[in-house]
Amino acid sequence: MENKDQYKQALESKYDCLLFDLDDTLYPKASGLSAQVTNNIKEYMILKLEIQEDKVPELCSSLYKKYGTTMAGLKAMGYDFDFDDFHSFVHGRLPYNLLKPDHVLRSLLLSIPIRKIIFTNGDKNHAARALSRLGLEDCFQEIICFETLNPNYKEAKPAVSEGKSELGQSSDNGDSALPKSPVVCKPFENSFEEVFKMLKINPQRAVFFDDNIYNIQTGKKMGLTTVWVGCSHRIGGVDYALESIHNIKEALPELWEAEESKNVKYSRKVGIETTVQA
Ligand SMILES: [Mg+2]
Repeated sequence: MENKDQYKQALESKYDCLLFDLDDTLYPKASGLSAQVTNNIKEYMILKLEIQEDKVPELCSSLYKKYGTTMAGLKAMGYDFDFDDFHSFVHGRLPYNLLKPDHVLRSLLLSIPIRKIIFTNGDKNHAARALSRLGLEDCFQEIICFETLNPNYKEAKPAVSEGKSELGQSSDNGDSALPKSPVVCKPFENSFEEVFKMLKINPQRAVFFDDNIYNIQTGKKMGLTTVWVGCSHRIGGVDYALESIHNIKEALPELWEAEESKNVKYSRKVGIETTVQA
């Protein structure tokens, strides 16, 4: 009996959950969609928030880096705007035809016998439209998006102005100097904790795919196995680096092992496979 249990354990997949970012992870940056998102955000900042045009590019990029999304950073700075209005302005008029159906990725994802979840900072409509254009809408069991992470977003207030930085003058001296955003999003630990709790995920048995290094580094800290997508070299916090999500099988063949183990009869002798290494 003991041998049987050991054998079963050895054959079981190391992982029971895969978390995928969406933008620039499930489709390449080269599609141009993200560049359009950035343009729309900048336009929103100029037209709706009346931020001085020459300050917008720098502010947009620094808030994105510090807060995970520019929107979260704008809220932290005290800007009062409607989240739905922001999302419809930024995503509502995107040229989604830049995304093409990806049959190769679809087959790969459907053949992995592990629960798959989208974990994006984007809003629900954007996730649905992008996944549909890619032909991947039925490849995931759950979609975690802005609305899931911020269920009370309609009542959320912008950060109080106390300690608010002047435009473009946020300190670079670490998170403690930054005003807090009311938005829950990657790369902050609370967004990961929320997802683990909501979907009963054991991070030690989950793999996280993302193109953003800050998200990857928090993911690693939270106990996930990390895959940096869109880059072919590893740095701190990165377990695997994939130039393209299409390389997933070459880098992580063990994701398919659960399927093989289902077909193995326990009558086979207990042998050498006592541990499985990445
Ligand atoms: Mg991304």
